[in-house]
Amino acid sequence: MGVIKEIIDVAKSLGKGLKVTVKYWFSPSSTITVQYPEEKRALSERTRGILFNDVVKCTACSACVLACPVKCISLVPVGKGKARKPKSFVITISQCMFCGLCVDACPTKSLQHTQELTMARYGLEDLQIEYVTPEMAERFVREAEEYERTQAEKAKKEAEKSARKPEEKGEGDQGGSQ
Ligand code: SF4
Ligand code: SF4
Repeated sequence: MGVIKEIIDVAKSLGKGLKVTVKYWFSPSSTITVQYPEEKRALSERTRGILFNDVVKCTACSACVLACPVKCISLVPVGKGKARKPKSFVITISQCMFCGLCVDACPTKSLQHTQELTMARYGLEDLQIEYVTPEMAERFVREAEEYERTQAEKAKKEAEKSARKPEEKGEGDQGGSQ
């Protein structure tokens, strides 16, 4: 009797499972899986995926570097003042925990999370993302040098102007006393 009861129980449980399978098989509208990676489900707007830095907007202020609790952002700035830009901006995404603190700290909103979550790579070095291309780095260095040159010329002109002022003042005084 015990064996027969066990067989009935197993058959009942199998029937329950098959009922669910057959239900989803014949009603595509209730499909709850997709053919990943060919198909992807829409993610929430607030998804914290792999980071992206729009380096044209980045001012190399280091706020993100200071905010990162695991120190996985490395930044090499170039230039001063308005011309300060990142010559190199690397995030080691194998260490990143997607906490979003760097994004919150970024004043220019150049650093953002994407919706990309696939991080499989062939080597650890591929998990270090450099956001500044060599062409961009070259451009930023050129712009920084140009800015410094302009600032130096401006300062020189200012100095010459203020050096001329006492002379002009002295000439004016002499003319008045004659
Ligand atoms: S998301 Fe968090 S861990 Fe990743 S780089 Fe930004 S601050 Fe660092
Ligand atoms: S906080 Fe933003 S602007 Fe500042 S260095 Fe980081 S990415 Fe660039």
